[in-house]
Amino acid sequence: ATTSLSRDLQEIVNSVKPKLLINGKFIDSLGGQTFTTEDPRTGEPICEVAECTAEDVDAAVDAARKAFDHGPWPRIPGRERGRILYKLADLLERDLEALAQLESLDNGKPVHFSRTADLPLAIEHLRYYAGWADKIAGEVVPVGVPNMQAITYREPLGVVAQIIPWNFPLLMMAWKLGPALCAGNTVVLKAAEQTPLTALRMGELCLEAGVPEGVVNVISGEGSVSGAALAGHPRVNKVAFTGSTEVGKLIMKQAADNLNPVTLELGGKSPNIICPDADIDAAVEQAHFALFFNMGQCCTAGSRTFVHEDIYDEFVKKATERAQNRKVGDPFASDTEQGPQVSKEQFDKILGLIETGKKQGAKLQTGGGRHGDKGYFIQPTVFSDVRDDMTIAKDEIFGPVQSILKWKTFEEVIERANNSNYGLAAGVFTKNLNWANTLSRGLKAGTVWVNCYDVFDAAVPFGGYKQSGIGREHGRECIDHYTQTKAVYTPLEGPQS
Ligand code: NAD
Repeated sequence: ATTSLSRDLQEIVNSVKPKLLINGKFIDSLGGQTFTTEDPRTGEPICEVAECTAEDVDAAVDAARKAFDHGPWPRIPGRERGRILYKLADLLERDLEALAQLESLDNGKPVHFSRTADLPLAIEHLRYYAGWADKIAGEVVPVGVPNMQAITYREPLGVVAQIIPWNFPLLMMAWKLGPALCAGNTVVLKAAEQTPLTALRMGELCLEAGVPEGVVNVISGEGSVSGAALAGHPRVNKVAFTGSTEVGKLIMKQAADNLNPVTLELGGKSPNIICPDADIDAAVEQAHFALFFNMGQCCTAGSRTFVHEDIYDEFVKKATERAQNRKVGDPFASDTEQGPQVSKEQFDKILGLIETGKKQGAKLQTGGGRHGDKGYFIQPTVFSDVRDDMTIAKDEIFGPVQSILKWKTFEEVIERANNSNYGLAAGVFTKNLNWANTLSRGLKAGTVWVNCYDVFDAAVPFGGYKQSGIGREHGRECIDHYTQTKAVYTPLEGPQS
């Protein structure tokens, strides 16, 4: 039995080929296994999807290997790869509405955010890297050896294993494919088992755009089975992962046997520091957005809201009111701000952490339980009087739970903000330029947003300090992670001028 979907949504679901995309064909898994992807609004099944096993991973890697070792992709001019990536972006734009609805159905995020954030950002990302495809160049290096020329090439790495999470499924796929493909690599991408549908549809669009068979292979299934087999596969040349820090450590170990380079985009516990001079209403709104956006399921979530003691009480009151006014409901309703969490597992984990917060003495200002009686909706929750040693101030909750802490001096707040194994992002709210500089220079985080939050641009490096990750996505820096340098020496013979 499938969930009772509207006719339009059912048609969109029917347009997806819920299989494995290997070597340009949609195929069943070798053993015929499938898994169910769920509608988080109800917990009912959407459809069955082919479940990738270790043998299927072998087939996908072989296809990518053949496409890299013998196919046209790394050999055609970069400009031609760029043209195909631009075409892929155009196809995402053509199918924007259907993809946005599919994303919201599988993930639970409000469809107007899928339309205005996930899809446009994914499209822009592909265009940005399409533009790089013909600009990845080596150099002529002046050398001291007489009559010798040295040049470098930037060459693709080969077959790249990419493993992505469920919080921004299509956007994470674009973040991964753009830099890998523009540089001439071939890819096996594993979508999260909670959200396989848009990845499969985007895989199909890659073929329509003219990406040759075997260059993009898309699989999904259990992380501990297909993810582990892919990350440790002896015939891949690099592993890129976005997800939890816990799994990031496993990935690094799996890749180590092959001495493969890894890039990791992991969790966070990002501090958001509100100074005494901040415009309170604007800061309340931005801090609310920083935490609650995407149901709190953002690696950058501003999950430690540090508010200066002078404005603490007023801030807590206003933040509580804002959370109480947050519109929770069907992601397909136009005024919904918050849909369900992605899965029962996440729903249970978040409710458990809320209980821990209460037990450890944080003050529950609002929320604290499930919303409604079906699906995975959680009430927007605000805790004040949160202390640094409480579990809710240390662990990634990945849910709609705001923790507000009090601070007094700059030295103290910088030290407390940095006292975390994570270092992905941070926010600062102040009108004072010196304070903004002191804080943004002092914070150990890969991104600092001053008087704004969750601003992303394809050109600006994004990644974590400490256990929030290794390497950077976006910008030119990411291309370095998908290429390697070859040096070529050639004697100069004959007369030289
Ligand atoms: P996860 O890290 O387990 O899953 C991310 C991806 O890794 C999925 O595709 C999954 O199938 C795969 N995976 C899982 N185990 C694997 C293994 N042993 N080897 C290889 N691949 C494996 O994340 P999750 O369990 O879905 O969520 C758990 C927590 O992770 C969340 O509560 C949240 O705190 C965090 N998380 C962070 C991000 C982020 O963007 N930083 C995204 C999703 C989840």
